[in-house]
Order: sequence, then structure tokens, then C-alpha cells
Amino acid sequence: MPLVFRKGDPVRTESGETGEVLGWRVCLEGGKWFFFYEVETPSGTFEAREDLLILPEDLIEARLEAEETRKKESARAAEYNASIVSIQYTHDDLAVFRVKPDGAKATYKPGQYTTLGLLGFESRLEGTQKEEPPTDGTTMVRRAYSISHRILDDETGELVPSGQDDFYEFYIVLVRDNGEGNPAPGLTPRLFALKEGNRLQIGKKATGHYTSELMGENTKTVILGGTGTGEAPHMSMISQLLSDGFEGDIVCIEVARFRHDFGYLATHKKLMGRYPNYHYVGLSTRDPDIEKKVYIQGYIGDGMLDELLGYTPEVETTHWFFCGNPKMLGVPQTDKETGVESYPTPLGVIEVLEGLGHTADRGRKNPGNIHYEEYW
Ligand SMILES: Cc1cc2nc3c(=O)[nH]c(=O)nc-3n(C[C@H](O)[C@H](O)[C@H](O)COP(=O)(O)OP(=O)(O)OC[C@H]3O[C@@H](n4cnc5c(N)ncnc54)[C@H](O)[C@@H]3O)c2cc1C
Repeated sequence: MPLVFRKGDPVRTESGETGEVLGWRVCLEGGKWFFFYEVETPSGTFEAREDLLILPEDLIEARLEAEETRKKESARAAEYNASIVSIQYTHDDLAVFRVKPDGAKATYKPGQYTTLGLLGFESRLEGTQKEEPPTDGTTMVRRAYSISHRILDDETGELVPSGQDDFYEFYIVLVRDNGEGNPAPGLTPRLFALKEGNRLQIGKKATGHYTSELMGENTKTVILGGTGTGEAPHMSMISQLLSDGFEGDIVCIEVARFRHDFGYLATHKKLMGRYPNYHYVGLSTRDPDIEKKVYIQGYIGDGMLDELLGYTPEVETTHWFFCGNPKMLGVPQTDKETGVESYPTPLGVIEVLEGLGHTADRGRKNPGNIHYEEYW
């Protein structure tokens, strides 16, 4: 192990004598260059070749640790371009992260996403699935995140148009465990170990086709359905609709296991109190007092949405946005050999709505009024 001795280091010689390094010089011996250290001992000062001197174990460890820290700091400085402004926890496994990039924010359309990344050597939150084998320290663990939005100013309660803040807001759930036999979740166990002020990497651009631009001019009803954090892009879209003075109905439907998973509930309540055309529906599926589980598919298919609105959303004037769990969406798959399209099981919201005459987006050439974003 190559060790560099420094002035003042306590050292031991091969013969067991202890002393302190006073200085050094480089000398040629037997055709090789060596460091020779001047060492002061109780019995006098002498000169010893580098490989004949030993540092105490704890000092070696401290030196190695300091070197590791230095390497990490320099990797962070080279790779990270943003800081955590705040982390507002809904509970231990769900939080709103505000992240400020070093330079200007990228311009984005409500609904788009960017990426967040942390280096593999960053610590993982305790109680999360262990990585076997551990991720290489120099690997950037990067994932996509929809750009969310607070909608209302924290202090004044005024509407904040999407994109106006100097930070990005992200609504993120901690994936603790990917299940036995599957690789451990890479990023969220590291993200949830961060504190305010910590550094991370943010994508330089925002991207994605899932945006409020998909709405036509004659839109009268906008329904936004999300599973858990699938609500994030809708927060930006809602803010834009309200700031633009959209007068049609806006319905935000969120499904989560428990009511305590509705991270933006307070904001939705305030919006409902202020805008008669704004409706929020929170569907929890695992609270003990739930008599019957209702998912977004059932809420629409069984007529509850029509009841809430007092009319049935029309194909020509309605745009549907769904984001999150692929099972909720049920995106139709095309058989590569036969070209035949079929819906997956269990029943997804796309099948329900296409059964009612609406059409899912199938690329630019075949647009529809049902738009969706799958999170995995
Ligand atoms: C376009 C896009 C936008 C996204 N936006 C968000 C967002 O705003 N907020 C967010 O929390 N996630 C979002 N995701 C998911 C995100 O990219 C990561 O997959 C997620 O944070 C898990 O990362 P991980 O490295 O910890 O786990 P991974 O190793 O990537 O494990 C992936 C597994 O975690 C589970 N999982 C992934 N995302 C979620 C989720 N949101 N809720 C519940 N289980 C999940 C699934 O079982 C999936 O198979 C988005 C994904 C895409 C493709």
C-alpha cells in the first residue's frame, strides 16, 4: 500500500523504535528512486527509507478515509448540478422534493419530466432492500421524474403559474423493496437518505409528449387520473388550466392505498373551495373503513364520475390524462406477428373508456382523447 508520510507523522521503524517525521528527500538507491525520511527519535535523528517505516493503523485508516472523501467530493463537484431546497414528507415513504439547479431552469411544458441522479457511492436509507452486488461507486443512478407543482404559494396561498418557481418540485414515493429475486431499487433509497442542502444531478432538459398541449381548443372537460405519485404531472397541468382561466370542468382523481398517501390533499381542498369547476376525488383502497374498493376504472365505468359532473363526458369535448401504474392504464398491446391489438388483464381504464367511445392516443398519426404515461 503506497503511503506518503507527512511532516509530524508518528512513525515506527522496522526495529520497533518510534519517532516523528521531520522532513524528507528523494534519493537514488540501487537504480531506483526512493523517499528517505528524516526521523527524530528519543535516541537521536536518523534517516530511513520509505519502505522501512510504518504508520500507526488508525492513522492509516484515517488517511484512507480522507482520500475516499476527497475522491467523492471531487466526483460530486464534477457530476452534480443541483441542490435540495427542501423535502416535505407526507410520511416516511412519500415526499415532495424541491430541487434548485445551479443555472437557469430548463423550460418545460406542464406534464413533462426530467431526470434525477445520484452516484452509486451515496448512502442508502436504512430498512431498504440491500443491493447485491452493490452498485459501482462511479455509476450515476438516474431515473425519470415528472415535474410537479405546488399550484398555490406556500405563504400567500395565491395561484403560482407552472414554471414560475426558481426550483423544480418532484413528488416521489420511496420504493423500499422490489421483491425477492429482483434487483434492489436503485435511486429512491438514496434520494430518501438526502437532507436539505445536499447535492444531486438533474437533467439539463425536460422532455415527454404527455403534456397539456394535447388538449384541443374546444375542450370542455379535463379528467386527470393518477395512481399515487402519478399525480405529479397533473399538478402542473391543473395550475396551467387555472391560470389560463379554463372554465370547463377539471376533475383530478387519485387512487392510493391509504388516505395518508394523498400528499397534495390540502392543496386540492383549497382549490375546490376557490374554483367551482375544480373537483378532486381521492380513492383509497386499503383503509380499514373502506366498504368496497373503487379504482379509477370502476369510478368511471360504474357511472360515479357522471354523477359527480352531472353529465356524461363527451368524446368531442373531453380529454383524459392518466399516469402511473401500468395496471391502471391497461395500454393495448399489438401482437408483433399478427398485428392484432388486445387489451391486457386486469381491466385498465383505457379499455373502459374505449368501450364508451373514447380513443387512446396511438402515436402522432393516430391521436385520441385518452393520453397516458406509464411509470414502469
Ligand atoms: C416518465 C416517468 C416519470 C416518472 N415520474 C415519477 C414521479 O413523478 N414520481 C415517482 O415517484 N416516480 C416517478 N417515476 C418512476 C421513477 O422513474 C422510478 O422508477 C422510481 O422512483 C423508482 O426508482 P428506483 O430506482 O428506486 O427503483 P427501480 O429500481 O427503478 O424500481 C422500479 C420498480 O419500482 C416500482 N415503482 C416505480 N415507480 C413507482 C411509483 N411511482 N410508485 C410505486 N411504485 C413504483 C415498480 O414496481 C417498478 O418496477 C417516473 C417514471 C417515468 C418513466
